[in-house]
Amino acid sequence: MKDLQPIVLEGINPKKPLIIAGPCSAETEEQVLATAKELAHHGVKIFRAGIWKPRTKPGGFEGVGVEGLAWLKRVKEETGMYTSTEVATKQHVEEALNAGVDILWIGARTSANPFAMQEIADALQAAGADVPVLIKNPVNPDLELWIGAMQRIYNAGIRRIGAIHRGFSAYGKHLYRNLPQWHIPIELRRRLPELPIICDPSHIGGKRELVAPLAQQALDMGFNGLIIESHCDPDCAWSDKSQQITPDVLNFILNTLVLRDSSQSTESLTLLRQQIDTIDNELLEILNKRMRVSREIGQYKKEHRMPVLQAGRYDDIMQSRVKLAQEMGMSGDFMRSVLSAIHEESVRQQIEILNDRVI
Ligand code: PEP
Ligand code: MN
Repeated sequence: MKDLQPIVLEGINPKKPLIIAGPCSAETEEQVLATAKELAHHGVKIFRAGIWKPRTKPGGFEGVGVEGLAWLKRVKEETGMYTSTEVATKQHVEEALNAGVDILWIGARTSANPFAMQEIADALQAAGADVPVLIKNPVNPDLELWIGAMQRIYNAGIRRIGAIHRGFSAYGKHLYRNLPQWHIPIELRRRLPELPIICDPSHIGGKRELVAPLAQQALDMGFNGLIIESHCDPDCAWSDKSQQITPDVLNFILNTLVLRDSSQSTESLTLLRQQIDTIDNELLEILNKRMRVSREIGQYKKEHRMPVLQAGRYDDIMQSRVKLAQEMGMSGDFMRSVLSAIHEESVRQQIEILNDRVI
């Protein structure tokens, strides 16, 4: 994807984060217009609303369908905002393009499906479309699948492509509705530096109170924009009500977000970065030293016919180190992930020793 183009829209400052806001779903013409007018009043320039809603289970509100496209047209005429909606099939693409929707996005359940992605790409190509297309990460944390989805859209001739980070599904109860796994969009940025990445704090957090901190975190990490769900009456929303905020609250959040200038690199920052480089090298040395000892232990276990995995010992290590880390101000979860990664590599290396016939 060599010649991606930035998503620059007339009347929108390209130096500022791209802000897209609007309800999860278009419900009624009144709700769409009321929300859009309040957002426009606060200076939001791109409106979002789901017309076709992919729901996990049948029986929920699945969107108003084509009828809602006429409401988006009214939003455009009456507020001057750009409009955007989610497409998941060939028919959605055709109808959205015919209705003059300015930006299309592809949802997380769709970007996980290469057949659906190809169908959308073919429909865009057949229509000779030149709209910006934003591709949400697939529900599962698979960067290759996400990039693959974008490549299909790119191969259809679309050059204004953006990624939306909306978090990743996980089993069980968590603080977040979809785990942010920030390292995945960060790796995407490293692989495709020209690709704009927009954060969707609404679907990551799943709760109103998480929208602001997640949005700030995304901007701190150099994301290029935000897509935030906003509804004129969130408590009565037909979908995703616990994560939607009023246009007034959105405006407050947008005004309190701190924008960082990513192009500035002061001298002291360079010095601090040099320190980080040195510390990382030291960390690698220490890790390597630990692995060497671990291999020696592997050798011992082999000679004494002991099993590689010693659950009790691992438990003790985990508990004592997590406690220590917490005393130092680091999170327990962080320490647990670090230790479990180190342990996994230790076990892998010990098994290598075990499989090595030469003692
Ligand atoms: C949405 O944006 O309303 C939506 C359905 O999002 P996702 O595909 O991220 O679940
Ligand atoms: Mn939603």
